[in-house]
Amino acid sequence: MDTVQRFEGLEEEVRESFGEDIVSLRREIHREPELGFDTKKTAEKVLSALDGLPLEIQTGVAENGIVATLKGGGDGPTVALRADMDALPIHEETGLSFASETDGKMHACGHDGHTSMLVGAARALCQDHLRERLNGTVKFVFQPAEEGGGGGRVMVEEGVADGVGSIFALHLWPGLEFGKAATKAGPIMAAADAFEMEIKGKGGHGAMPHMTADAVVIAAQVVTALQTVVAREVNPVEPAVLTIGEIEAGTAFNIIPETARLGGTVRTVDADLRKRMPERIEELARGVARGMRGDVELNYRFSYPVTRNDAGAAKLALNVAGELFGEDRAVEVEYPSMGGEDFAFFLEELPGAYVWLGVGDVSGLHTPRFAFDEEILPQGAALLAALALESLSG
Ligand SMILES: [Zn+2]
Ligand SMILES: [Zn+2]
Repeated sequence: MDTVQRFEGLEEEVRESFGEDIVSLRREIHREPELGFDTKKTAEKVLSALDGLPLEIQTGVAENGIVATLKGGGDGPTVALRADMDALPIHEETGLSFASETDGKMHACGHDGHTSMLVGAARALCQDHLRERLNGTVKFVFQPAEEGGGGGRVMVEEGVADGVGSIFALHLWPGLEFGKAATKAGPIMAAADAFEMEIKGKGGHGAMPHMTADAVVIAAQVVTALQTVVAREVNPVEPAVLTIGEIEAGTAFNIIPETARLGGTVRTVDADLRKRMPERIEELARGVARGMRGDVELNYRFSYPVTRNDAGAAKLALNVAGELFGEDRAVEVEYPSMGGEDFAFFLEELPGAYVWLGVGDVSGLHTPRFAFDEEILPQGAALLAALALESLSG
Protein backbone atom coordinates (compact mmCIF):
# COMPACT_ATOMS: atom_id res chain seq x y z
CA MET A 1 0.00 0.00 0.00
CA ASP A 2 1.52 3.37 -0.87
CA THR A 3 1.34 6.45 1.30
CA VAL A 4 -1.17 8.23 -0.93
CA GLN A 5 -3.75 5.53 -0.29
CA ARG A 6 -2.73 5.34 3.35
CA PHE A 7 -3.85 8.90 4.15
CA GLU A 8 -6.71 9.12 1.69
CA GLY A 9 -9.87 10.20 3.42
CA LEU A 10 -8.14 10.73 6.79
CA GLU A 11 -8.81 14.46 6.97
CA GLU A 12 -12.46 14.02 5.97
CA GLU A 13 -12.85 11.23 8.51
CA VAL A 14 -11.38 13.34 11.34
CA ARG A 15 -13.52 16.31 10.31
CA GLU A 16 -16.75 14.30 10.16
CA SER A 17 -16.23 12.13 13.22
CA PHE A 18 -14.50 14.55 15.59
CA GLY A 19 -14.61 18.03 14.05
CA GLU A 20 -17.45 19.39 16.17
CA ASP A 21 -15.95 18.02 19.40
CA ILE A 22 -12.54 19.45 18.59
CA VAL A 23 -14.06 22.89 18.03
CA SER A 24 -16.18 22.78 21.17
CA LEU A 25 -13.21 21.67 23.29
CA ARG A 26 -11.18 24.51 21.84
CA ARG A 27 -13.91 26.97 22.80
CA GLU A 28 -14.17 25.62 26.33
CA ILE A 29 -10.43 25.99 26.78
CA HIS A 30 -10.49 29.42 25.16
CA ARG A 31 -13.16 30.63 27.58
CA GLU A 32 -11.08 29.70 30.61
CA PRO A 33 -7.42 30.50 29.88
CA GLU A 34 -4.73 29.56 32.40
CA LEU A 35 -1.14 30.75 32.65
CA GLY A 36 2.19 28.99 33.00
CA PHE A 37 2.21 25.75 34.96
CA ASP A 38 -1.22 26.58 36.42
CA THR A 39 -3.19 24.69 33.74
CA LYS A 40 -5.25 22.53 36.08
CA LYS A 41 -8.68 23.23 34.57
CA THR A 42 -7.35 22.89 31.03
CA ALA A 43 -5.88 19.51 31.97
CA GLU A 44 -9.25 18.48 33.43
CA LYS A 45 -10.95 19.38 30.14
CA VAL A 46 -8.39 17.32 28.24
CA LEU A 47 -8.85 14.36 30.59
CA SER A 48 -12.60 14.39 30.22
CA ALA A 49 -12.25 14.56 26.41
CA LEU A 50 -9.95 11.51 26.53
CA ASP A 51 -12.19 9.61 28.92
CA GLY A 52 -13.04 6.08 27.86
CA LEU A 53 -10.28 5.82 25.26
CA PRO A 54 -7.78 2.92 25.42
CA LEU A 55 -5.01 5.19 26.71
CA GLU A 56 -2.67 4.89 29.65
CA ILE A 57 -2.89 8.29 31.30
CA GLN A 58 -0.20 9.92 33.38
CA THR A 59 -1.19 13.17 35.09
CA GLY A 60 0.78 15.66 37.18
CA VAL A 61 3.71 15.68 34.75
CA ALA A 62 5.46 19.07 35.02
CA GLU A 63 2.76 19.99 37.57
CA ASN A 64 -0.35 20.05 35.36
CA GLY A 65 0.84 18.28 32.21
CA ILE A 66 -0.54 15.02 30.86
CA VAL A 67 1.08 12.17 28.96
CA ALA A 68 -1.42 9.77 27.35
CA THR A 69 0.04 6.60 25.83
CA LEU A 70 -1.56 4.53 23.07
CA LYS A 71 -0.16 1.08 22.31
CA GLY A 72 -0.58 0.30 18.64
CA GLY A 73 -0.83 -2.97 16.79
CA GLY A 74 2.92 -3.67 16.69
CA ASP A 75 6.07 -3.48 18.83
CA GLY A 76 7.84 -0.74 16.91
CA PRO A 77 9.24 2.53 18.28
CA THR A 78 7.49 5.31 20.19
CA VAL A 79 6.51 8.59 18.58
CA ALA A 80 5.43 11.57 20.68
CA LEU A 81 3.06 14.36 19.64
CA ARG A 82 3.18 17.46 21.80
CA ALA A 83 0.75 20.33 22.35
CA ASP A 84 1.17 23.29 24.68
CA MET A 85 -1.76 24.28 26.93
CA ASP A 86 -1.01 27.69 28.47
CA ALA A 87 -2.40 31.14 27.69
CA LEU A 88 -0.96 34.67 27.95
CA PRO A 89 -1.45 37.65 30.28
CA ILE A 90 -3.25 39.71 27.62
CA HIS A 91 -6.75 41.18 27.76
CA GLU A 92 -8.80 39.70 24.93
CA GLU A 93 -10.41 42.06 22.40
CA THR A 94 -11.71 39.62 19.79
CA GLY A 95 -15.39 40.00 20.66
CA LEU A 96 -15.85 36.25 20.07
CA SER A 97 -18.88 34.58 21.66
CA PHE A 98 -16.51 32.25 23.51
CA ALA A 99 -13.98 34.95 24.45
CA SER A 100 -11.96 34.69 27.65
CA GLU A 101 -14.05 35.08 30.78
CA THR A 102 -10.99 36.08 32.79
CA ASP A 103 -9.83 39.69 32.53
CA GLY A 104 -6.21 39.92 31.54
CA LYS A 105 -5.80 36.34 30.38
CA MET A 106 -6.20 35.10 26.83
CA HIS A 107 -5.29 32.26 24.52
CA ALA A 108 -3.47 34.64 22.18
CA CYS A 109 -0.94 32.10 20.92
CA GLY A 110 -3.36 29.42 19.75
CA HIS A 111 -2.42 26.85 22.40
CA ASP A 112 -6.13 26.18 22.92
CA GLY A 113 -6.14 25.09 19.28
CA HIS A 114 -3.00 22.97 19.68
CA THR A 115 -4.46 21.17 22.68
CA SER A 116 -7.78 20.42 21.02
CA MET A 117 -6.07 19.26 17.79
CA LEU A 118 -3.98 16.82 19.80
CA VAL A 119 -7.08 15.49 21.55
CA GLY A 120 -8.64 15.08 18.09
CA ALA A 121 -5.58 13.15 16.87
CA ALA A 122 -5.73 10.90 19.96
CA ARG A 123 -9.40 10.16 19.41
CA ALA A 124 -8.82 9.40 15.74
CA LEU A 125 -5.86 7.09 16.37
CA CYS A 126 -7.73 5.22 19.13
CA GLN A 127 -10.19 3.91 16.52
CA ASP A 128 -9.47 0.25 15.84
CA HIS A 129 -8.85 0.60 12.10
CA LEU A 130 -6.14 3.25 12.67
CA ARG A 131 -4.77 1.86 15.92
CA GLU A 132 -3.99 -1.50 14.34
CA ARG A 133 -1.89 0.28 11.70
CA LEU A 134 0.43 1.74 14.36
CA ASN A 135 3.51 -0.43 14.57
CA GLY A 136 4.55 0.99 17.92
CA THR A 137 3.41 3.42 20.58
CA VAL A 138 2.11 6.99 20.46
CA LYS A 139 2.57 9.38 23.37
CA PHE A 140 0.25 12.39 23.42
CA VAL A 141 2.06 15.06 25.42
CA PHE A 142 0.03 17.98 26.85
CA GLN A 143 2.51 20.51 28.15
CA PRO A 144 2.00 23.52 30.43
CA ALA A 145 4.18 26.66 30.61
CA GLU A 146 5.40 27.19 27.07
CA GLU A 147 5.08 30.98 27.39
CA GLY A 148 7.94 31.37 29.85
CA GLY A 149 8.55 28.84 32.56
CA GLY A 150 9.98 26.20 30.24
CA GLY A 151 7.41 23.46 30.82
CA GLY A 152 9.10 21.53 28.01
CA ARG A 153 12.37 21.49 29.95
CA VAL A 154 10.59 20.24 33.08
CA MET A 155 8.86 17.51 31.08
CA VAL A 156 12.19 16.36 29.68
CA GLU A 157 13.68 16.41 33.21
CA GLU A 158 10.76 14.28 34.39
CA GLY A 159 11.53 11.68 31.72
CA VAL A 160 8.88 12.36 29.08
CA ALA A 161 11.48 12.00 26.29
CA ASP A 162 12.83 8.70 27.66
CA GLY A 163 12.31 5.79 25.29
CA VAL A 164 10.77 8.05 22.64
CA GLY A 165 12.12 7.70 19.09
CA SER A 166 10.86 10.93 17.56
CA ILE A 167 8.55 13.85 18.35
CA PHE A 168 6.39 16.33 16.45
CA ALA A 169 4.50 19.51 17.34
CA LEU A 170 2.34 21.98 15.42
CA HIS A 171 1.93 25.71 15.87
CA LEU A 172 -0.87 27.72 14.27
CA TRP A 173 0.88 30.33 12.16
CA PRO A 174 -0.52 33.71 11.07
CA GLY A 175 0.97 35.02 7.86
CA LEU A 176 1.25 31.54 6.36
CA GLU A 177 -1.52 30.86 3.85
CA PHE A 178 -4.51 29.16 5.46
CA GLY A 179 -4.27 25.39 5.49
CA LYS A 180 -0.63 25.16 4.46
CA ALA A 181 1.86 23.26 6.58
CA ALA A 182 5.44 24.49 6.65
CA THR A 183 8.70 23.38 8.17
CA LYS A 184 12.39 23.04 7.40
CA ALA A 185 15.43 21.00 8.35
CA GLY A 186 17.65 22.60 11.00
CA PRO A 187 16.79 25.73 13.01
CA ILE A 188 13.16 26.82 12.71
CA MET A 189 12.90 28.99 15.85
CA ALA A 190 15.64 31.00 17.52
CA ALA A 191 17.25 30.76 20.94
CA ALA A 192 15.38 33.29 23.06
CA ASP A 193 17.46 34.72 25.90
CA ALA A 194 16.75 37.61 28.23
CA PHE A 195 18.63 40.17 30.24
CA GLU A 196 18.20 42.93 32.77
CA MET A 197 20.74 45.64 33.20
CA GLU A 198 21.03 48.05 36.05
CA ILE A 199 22.66 51.34 35.11
CA LYS A 200 24.34 52.82 38.14
CA GLY A 201 24.92 56.56 38.32
CA LYS A 202 24.80 59.21 41.00
CA GLY A 203 21.54 61.02 41.59
CA GLY A 204 20.96 64.69 42.29
CA HIS A 205 19.09 67.89 41.48
CA GLY A 206 17.83 68.25 37.93
CA ALA A 207 19.40 71.71 37.77
CA MET A 208 22.86 70.54 38.88
CA PRO A 209 23.91 67.75 36.51
CA HIS A 210 27.60 68.43 37.13
CA MET A 211 27.12 67.05 40.67
CA THR A 212 25.69 63.78 39.33
CA ALA A 213 26.34 60.82 37.03
CA ASP A 214 23.05 60.87 35.15
CA ALA A 215 21.69 57.31 34.88
CA VAL A 216 19.07 58.41 32.32
CA VAL A 217 21.65 59.80 29.93
CA ILE A 218 23.91 56.79 30.47
CA ALA A 219 20.96 54.46 29.78
CA ALA A 220 20.15 56.32 26.55
CA GLN A 221 23.76 55.96 25.36
CA VAL A 222 23.86 52.29 26.36
CA VAL A 223 20.64 51.49 24.45
CA THR A 224 22.08 53.15 21.34
CA ALA A 225 25.52 51.56 21.71
CA LEU A 226 24.02 48.08 22.14
CA GLN A 227 22.46 48.34 18.68
CA THR A 228 25.99 48.09 17.26
CA VAL A 229 26.49 44.59 18.68
CA VAL A 230 24.25 43.03 16.03
CA ALA A 231 24.95 45.67 13.37
CA ARG A 232 28.76 45.70 13.63
CA GLU A 233 29.91 42.52 15.38
CA VAL A 234 27.68 39.76 14.03
CA ASN A 235 28.32 38.32 10.59
CA PRO A 236 25.68 40.06 8.44
CA VAL A 237 24.40 36.76 7.04
CA GLU A 238 23.94 35.31 10.54
CA PRO A 239 20.51 36.01 12.09
CA ALA A 240 20.54 37.85 15.42
CA VAL A 241 18.28 40.30 17.25
CA LEU A 242 18.91 42.48 20.27
CA THR A 243 15.83 44.32 21.51
CA ILE A 244 15.55 46.53 24.55
CA GLY A 245 11.87 46.29 25.45
CA GLU A 246 11.98 47.94 28.85
CA ILE A 247 13.53 51.11 30.16
CA GLU A 248 12.72 52.44 33.56
CA ALA A 249 14.10 55.35 35.52
CA GLY A 250 13.20 58.32 37.62
CA THR A 251 10.52 59.56 39.96
CA ALA A 252 10.11 63.23 39.06
CA PHE A 253 10.89 65.63 36.22
CA ASN A 254 13.43 67.59 38.23
CA ILE A 255 15.38 64.78 39.86
CA ILE A 256 18.31 63.03 38.23
CA PRO A 257 17.86 59.41 39.27
CA GLU A 258 20.60 57.31 40.78
CA THR A 259 19.81 54.24 38.66
CA ALA A 260 18.02 53.12 35.54
CA ARG A 261 16.91 49.67 34.52
CA LEU A 262 16.88 48.11 31.05
CA GLY A 263 15.23 44.85 30.06
CA GLY A 264 15.93 43.15 26.77
CA THR A 265 15.92 39.99 24.73
CA VAL A 266 18.56 38.44 22.50
CA ARG A 267 17.66 36.02 19.69
CA THR A 268 20.27 33.94 17.95
CA VAL A 269 20.44 30.77 15.90
CA ASP A 270 24.16 29.99 16.07
CA ALA A 271 25.28 28.34 19.33
CA ASP A 272 28.69 30.06 19.53
CA LEU A 273 27.21 33.46 18.87
CA ARG A 274 24.61 32.78 21.55
CA LYS A 275 27.37 32.12 24.10
CA ARG A 276 29.32 35.23 23.09
CA MET A 277 26.45 37.71 23.42
CA PRO A 278 26.38 38.30 27.21
CA GLU A 279 30.07 39.13 27.36
CA ARG A 280 29.92 41.61 24.49
CA ILE A 281 26.79 43.27 25.87
CA GLU A 282 28.38 43.67 29.28
CA GLU A 283 31.74 44.93 27.97
CA LEU A 284 30.20 47.48 25.66
CA ALA A 285 27.64 48.75 28.18
CA ARG A 286 30.26 48.95 30.91
CA GLY A 287 32.65 50.87 28.66
CA VAL A 288 29.97 53.42 27.82
CA ALA A 289 28.79 53.73 31.44
CA ARG A 290 32.28 54.10 32.91
CA GLY A 291 33.13 56.72 30.34
CA MET A 292 30.26 58.70 31.84
CA ARG A 293 31.25 58.01 35.48
CA GLY A 294 28.68 55.28 35.95
CA ASP A 295 28.69 51.51 35.83
CA VAL A 296 26.40 48.62 34.91
CA GLU A 297 25.35 45.32 36.36
CA LEU A 298 24.14 42.67 33.92
CA ASN A 299 21.85 39.82 34.80
CA TYR A 300 21.69 37.55 31.73
CA ARG A 301 19.37 34.54 31.47
CA PHE A 302 19.85 31.81 28.91
CA SER A 303 16.29 30.73 28.31
CA TYR A 304 14.93 28.66 25.38
CA PRO A 305 17.54 27.09 23.09
CA VAL A 306 17.28 26.96 19.30
CA THR A 307 14.41 24.83 18.03
CA ARG A 308 16.35 22.62 15.66
CA ASN A 309 14.45 20.19 13.44
CA ASP A 310 15.96 16.88 12.46
CA ALA A 311 16.37 16.79 8.68
CA GLY A 312 14.72 13.38 8.34
CA ALA A 313 11.79 14.30 10.56
CA ALA A 314 11.25 17.61 8.71
CA LYS A 315 11.24 15.73 5.41
CA LEU A 316 8.80 13.17 6.78
CA ALA A 317 6.51 15.99 7.96
CA LEU A 318 6.59 17.73 4.56
CA ASN A 319 5.90 14.45 2.76
CA VAL A 320 3.01 13.62 5.07
CA ALA A 321 1.52 17.13 4.73
CA GLY A 322 1.93 16.94 0.95
CA GLU A 323 0.19 13.61 0.73
CA LEU A 324 -2.55 14.63 3.12
CA PHE A 325 -3.32 18.16 1.88
CA GLY A 326 -1.77 18.20 -1.61
CA GLU A 327 1.79 19.03 -2.67
CA ASP A 328 1.10 22.77 -2.97
CA ARG A 329 0.06 22.93 0.70
CA ALA A 330 3.33 21.56 2.07
CA VAL A 331 5.87 24.36 2.11
CA GLU A 332 9.54 24.37 2.92
CA VAL A 333 10.32 27.30 5.26
CA GLU A 334 13.16 29.49 4.03
CA TYR A 335 14.25 31.33 7.18
CA PRO A 336 13.74 30.47 10.85
CA SER A 337 11.43 32.68 12.90
CA MET A 338 13.33 34.67 15.53
CA GLY A 339 10.59 33.80 18.01
CA GLY A 340 11.41 31.28 20.74
CA GLU A 341 9.71 27.99 21.53
CA ASP A 342 10.31 25.59 24.37
CA PHE A 343 9.65 22.56 22.16
CA ALA A 344 13.39 23.15 21.66
CA PHE A 345 14.05 21.22 24.88
CA PHE A 346 12.46 18.09 23.40
CA LEU A 347 14.42 18.53 20.16
CA GLU A 348 17.68 18.71 22.13
CA GLU A 349 16.93 15.14 23.28
CA LEU A 350 15.10 13.63 20.31
CA PRO A 351 14.92 13.86 16.53
CA GLY A 352 11.70 15.55 15.53
CA ALA A 353 10.12 18.47 13.78
CA TYR A 354 8.18 21.58 14.66
CA VAL A 355 5.62 22.40 11.97
CA TRP A 356 3.75 25.63 11.31
CA LEU A 357 0.13 25.38 10.25
CA GLY A 358 -1.09 28.42 8.34
CA VAL A 359 -4.10 30.40 9.56
CA GLY A 360 -3.71 33.11 6.92
CA ASP A 361 -3.76 36.86 7.26
CA VAL A 362 -5.07 37.32 10.81
CA SER A 363 -3.98 39.43 13.79
CA GLY A 364 -0.58 38.21 14.98
CA LEU A 365 0.26 35.82 17.79
CA HIS A 366 0.38 37.54 21.20
CA THR A 367 -2.04 40.29 20.12
CA PRO A 368 -5.41 40.92 21.82
CA ARG A 369 -7.28 40.33 18.54
CA PHE A 370 -5.64 37.05 17.56
CA ALA A 371 -8.37 34.75 16.20
CA PHE A 372 -8.45 32.08 13.52
CA ASP A 373 -10.89 30.09 11.41
CA GLU A 374 -11.59 26.88 13.33
CA GLU A 375 -11.78 24.92 10.07
CA ILE A 376 -8.05 24.54 10.60
CA LEU A 377 -8.48 22.41 13.73
CA PRO A 378 -9.68 19.10 12.20
CA GLN A 379 -7.05 19.57 9.51
CA GLY A 380 -4.31 19.92 12.14
CA ALA A 381 -5.66 16.93 14.07
CA ALA A 382 -5.49 14.86 10.88
CA LEU A 383 -1.92 16.01 10.26
CA LEU A 384 -0.85 14.98 13.79
CA ALA A 385 -2.53 11.59 13.36
CA ALA A 386 -0.85 11.12 9.97
CA LEU A 387 2.57 12.03 11.42
CA ALA A 388 2.15 9.22 13.96
CA LEU A 389 0.87 6.76 11.33
CA GLU A 390 3.79 7.52 9.03
CA SER A 391 6.39 7.39 11.85
CA LEU A 392 5.05 3.98 12.92
CA SER A 393 4.39 2.55 9.48
CA GLY A 394 7.45 0.28 9.50
ZN1 LIG B 1 3.41 32.37 22.23
ZN1 LIG C 1 2.79 29.54 21.06
